[in-house]
Amino acid sequence: MLITHDTRCALDTVVDLVNTVPEDEAAPDGLADVAALQEFVGTHDISDVGVLSEPDLSAVRRIRGRFAAVFAAPDARTAAGLINDLVAAAGTTPRLTDHDGYDWHIHYFAPGASVADHLTADCGMALAFFVVAGEQERLRRCEAPDCRRAFVDLSRNRSRRYCDSRTCGNRLHVAAYRARRKEAAG
Ligand SMILES: [Zn+2]
Ligand SMILES: [Zn+2]
Repeated sequence: MLITHDTRCALDTVVDLVNTVPEDEAAPDGLADVAALQEFVGTHDISDVGVLSEPDLSAVRRIRGRFAAVFAAPDARTAAGLINDLVAAAGTTPRLTDHDGYDWHIHYFAPGASVADHLTADCGMALAFFVVAGEQERLRRCEAPDCRRAFVDLSRNRSRRYCDSRTCGNRLHVAAYRARRKEAAG
């Protein structure tokens, strides 16, 4: 499947957005305040976003929960329904652009859209293309115990089961090692 530059950026953004949700009550929220949202917007190069406010923050927090549900969807039909609802609420204005030296591609957010609507339109459409391409199952949540981070499995044979946080990789590695040792000692 062909993934254009902007789709790739939108995918990275939506994965990072979903993963700002604290994993438990004790963990800090990745979008704790407007400053954190401002930083998120800057890091992910989200264009045409004006001055951010509290309502922006609560709107973005609302949609990240809904995007998390897309990554947890058991099948394409469920994912499609969730994506349709998201994108419909955001309002989209597809338009061709070749900004910043990139080849022609389509932006979906409406001019003047709020940051939440901007994210919903462009990230929603990026996820929609995975469903269209028959690749919905690449939208995953980590299978490590205690970790529900979202990720997009871009491996050739769709074999990735864990997120790329080092904790997950290492933790599982150690657990498998201990299990083997225990068996050998047993
Ligand atoms: Zn673009
Ligand atoms: Zn993980």
